[in-house]
Amino acid sequence: MSRVMVFVGDQPGEIESQAITLGHSLGSVEAVVLGDVTIAGLNRVWSVQHPLLSDYAPEAIAEALAQLVGREMPAAVIAAGTERGNEVMAHLGALLDLPLASNIVSVDASDDDWELTRVRWGGSLLEEATLSAFVKLLTVAPHSQPAFAGSGDPEVTIFTPEIDDSLARTRVTERVTVEAGISLTTAPVVVSGGRGVGSAEGFATLEQLANLLGGAVGCSRVVTNNGWRSHRDQVGQTGTRIAPSLYIACGISGAIQHWVGMMAAKKVLAINTDPDAPMVTKADYAVIGDLHEILPAIVDEVKRRKGLE
Ligand SMILES: Cc1cc2nc3c(=O)[nH]c(=O)nc-3n(C[C@H](O)[C@H](O)[C@H](O)COP(=O)(O)OP(=O)(O)OC[C@H]3O[C@@H](n4cnc5c(N)ncnc54)[C@H](O)[C@@H]3O)c2cc1C
Repeated sequence: MSRVMVFVGDQPGEIESQAITLGHSLGSVEAVVLGDVTIAGLNRVWSVQHPLLSDYAPEAIAEALAQLVGREMPAAVIAAGTERGNEVMAHLGALLDLPLASNIVSVDASDDDWELTRVRWGGSLLEEATLSAFVKLLTVAPHSQPAFAGSGDPEVTIFTPEIDDSLARTRVTERVTVEAGISLTTAPVVVSGGRGVGSAEGFATLEQLANLLGGAVGCSRVVTNNGWRSHRDQVGQTGTRIAPSLYIACGISGAIQHWVGMMAAKKVLAINTDPDAPMVTKADYAVIGDLHEILPAIVDEVKRRKGLE
C-alpha cells in the first residue's frame, strides 16, 4: 500500500482532518505534525521538532518536510488547501523541484500518473489535470471531503530536521488580538474601497460612512498592494469572502477575483466614474460619478437623517 504523508502542522482542525480523509483514499496515511500534537486513528505520526518551528515559519517548515520526504520517499505529500497549507507546499515543491497541484477535490490514483479534479478561479470552475511526479504534492480544497474521525493512539516518531537560521526569515513573531467590535465577516454593511479611493487618507470618508451605518470597511487587492489598508480588510479570492446585507463598492472595478469575495452580498451599491465597469453593470444600484464628491454627500445625508447635524 502506498505511503501518504499528510502535513497537518501544529493546530490541526477540521480542514486538516479533511486532507487526512483524502489521504486515506490514496494509501496508508502518516501525519506530519509540528511539536507534540497527535492524531488519533492513524498508524504513524511524525512529530517534527525544532526550536525554529515553534510558530508558523513557511520556509523552515518546508525545509523540514523536504528532509523528511527525501529520507522516507512517500508516494505523496498532502496538506489542507488553506493559505498556510498552500504556502508551505509551494515552498516544498520549489525545494524538491516537484510540481504542486493545489485545491484538489478528487483523485484517481489507479495509474502512475494521477488524474485530478481541482477547484480554480475562486470556485467558479473545476479543472481536470494529470499529475506525474515521483512524489506527488497536493493540497485539498477545504470542505471537499468529510472530516476524518479515528480512534487509537498512533506510533509517534520524532524527526529532528537541520534548519539554518536564515530559513526562518519569514515567521510569526507577534500575535495581535483584533479589537472586539464589528468585523468584516460579520458586518451587515461593508463600505469597500478600491484604486479609485486614491490613497490611505482617502479611506477616512469610507470609515465615517461605515461607522454611521454600523458597518466595516473593506477594500480591493490594489489597495492592500499599495499599502493603503491591511490585508485583513481585503475582500476577494485571496482575501475574505463576505455576505453582508449591503456592499458599497467605491472605486472598485469588479474584477472576478474581487467579485467572488462579495457576490454573496444581498444588495450591491457601486459608486464609480465608469458606467461600464463590471461592478456597476452587475450591481443592484449604481451612482456614476466621483466618489470623492458622492461619499461626503451620502455621509452628510445619513447624518442629517440620524439627527446628527
Ligand atoms: C490570483 C489573483 C488573485 C486576486 N485576488 C484578489 C482579491 O482577493 N481581491 C481583489 O480585490 N482583487 C484580487 N485580485 C486583483 C484583481 O484582478 C483586480 O486587479 C483588483 O480587484 C482591481 O482592484 P480595483 O478594482 O481597486 O482597481 P481597478 O481595477 O484599477 O479599478 C478602479 C476602479 O475605480 C474607478 N475609479 C477611479 N477613480 C474613481 C473616482 N474618483 N470615483 C469613483 N470611481 C473611480 C475606475 O473607474 C475603476 O473602475 C487578484 C488577482 C489575481 C491574479
